Amino acid sequence: MVNVTSLVWRHADSAPHRVAVMSPTQRLGYGALREVNAYVAAAVRAAGLVPLDRVVLVAPSIPEFPAVYYGLHAAGVTVVTMNTMSTPHEIGYVLDDAEVSLVIAWQGCAEAAEVAAREREIACWRILPGGRLAGAPDTASYDSLVVHDHAPDDTAVILYTSGTTGRPKGAELTAANLVATCDSFVPVLDITTDDRFGTGLPLFHVFGQCVCMNTTLVNGASFGIISPFDPAAMIEMITRERLTTVSGVPTMWNAMLHVPGYGPDDFRALRLASSGGASMPVEVMRAFQERFDCAILEGYGLTETCGATSFNDLHRPAKPGTVGPALPGTSIEIRDPDGAPAPVGQVGEVFLKGPTVMKGYWNRPDATAADLRDGWLRTGDLGALDEDGYLSIVDRVKDLVIRGGYNVYPREVEEVLYAHPDVVEAAVVGVPDAHYGEEVAAVVVLTPGSTATAESLRAWAKERLSAYKVPRLYQFVDALPKGSTGKILKRAIDRGTLTREP
Ligand code: ATP
Repeated sequence: MVNVTSLVWRHADSAPHRVAVMSPTQRLGYGALREVNAYVAAAVRAAGLVPLDRVVLVAPSIPEFPAVYYGLHAAGVTVVTMNTMSTPHEIGYVLDDAEVSLVIAWQGCAEAAEVAAREREIACWRILPGGRLAGAPDTASYDSLVVHDHAPDDTAVILYTSGTTGRPKGAELTAANLVATCDSFVPVLDITTDDRFGTGLPLFHVFGQCVCMNTTLVNGASFGIISPFDPAAMIEMITRERLTTVSGVPTMWNAMLHVPGYGPDDFRALRLASSGGASMPVEVMRAFQERFDCAILEGYGLTETCGATSFNDLHRPAKPGTVGPALPGTSIEIRDPDGAPAPVGQVGEVFLKGPTVMKGYWNRPDATAADLRDGWLRTGDLGALDEDGYLSIVDRVKDLVIRGGYNVYPREVEEVLYAHPDVVEAAVVGVPDAHYGEEVAAVVVLTPGSTATAESLRAWAKERLSAYKVPRLYQFVDALPKGSTGKILKRAIDRGTLTREP
């Protein structure tokens, strides 16, 4: 049987009162979680949906999310989770593209979904506190509801990813992919039922959903969530719930470093913090370890690999600056521009194969054929493997800056800027330049009251980098644009304002 819900429900049998999900205002035990899941599954079946029909779920990181999510899996439908900030237009695109039969949205963010669903005459149910569904048909008893038995290759989840250009594509994650992600993290994180695993990530994204939520609940641990992410609230949850494990993206660790008044004593129960989703500045990692006496281990994954690829696990020496060796079952290959395997240490494009790699892009044979060949996924990331098989992500292919024929990897330049005491956040991008083709530019958030200038940052970078890598253009902003997970969104940076030297 392959269904994440069956795996979560094992713990409802063995430990119904153990806390499954905890938020600042609610706690839901495994038994109670199963009860709401069964109600949701029964409602979906009563509405006439059959396995593999697509259902859109729009909800923030609250206990009602897993309450509905695992109910949908129990019914066997394909779950399409969407950002709670989505507009009617964005939701409408997915409703059409995925040929969706039903929309279910949390009452606090249902309007856009309702507009899009109404225009297409698709039913839209509102999730009420506790997980009841307004608009759903009445259901008879659901005590003995039987979980749908998926074939391993059935599409259990579709997650839309914006990609570089063009229309968003729906990555089809199979029932087996979801389970493989959970299994792959158990040996490297040593997860047990005593763990209390927390995150401030959104659950509609692969990282929060497949890596954090599914891995925690399939393995019978307790899952702490907050919504939206707030660094002080995150620290408060770590302290209050005595979390043992936390996950986040680099901007979250960085933001937590700037919350005053906490130290190692508050993080005593925490045995590890795991970072992914974007490159982790080594400087931030070091500062976090120093302040909270807790190591951050970095991993790497994509929506297309169900969140799991590599991780600096607990049983091998961590190598800061790398994203660790491949997770069990996954193979990593670095290829040169001609597609030939690159030697150890050489930078090339990262290709991945393994049990977490998606089935393909929904309804997009062209895109699937371009990115997935013989089971190998083309990632669009540049990286290198060392002699121990540890992967370093150098940058995204599309973020590489080519200045006067020289490759500049923004991440390397950002590392140097992050090491400056006055820099809170930095993003390095290329801007068109008549002479060099592209020029290196830095968009920087400074600490309040800082007197740093473009000249002083340039001097700092010049001492540490070859001349062609030193940003010539600087822009100081109050905040950098961020995506749904809190990752810095380089494509949203307004490069038009970066074309002049200060
Ligand atoms: P979108 O859906 O908007 O296209 P995205 O391209 O960030 O977002 P995701 O699937 O969310 O897509 O993220 C995967 C990408 O995140 C990877 O391809 C890689 O570029 C980046 N990434 C993930 N983990 C790391 C890491 N530890 N270091 C560097 N980059 C990382």
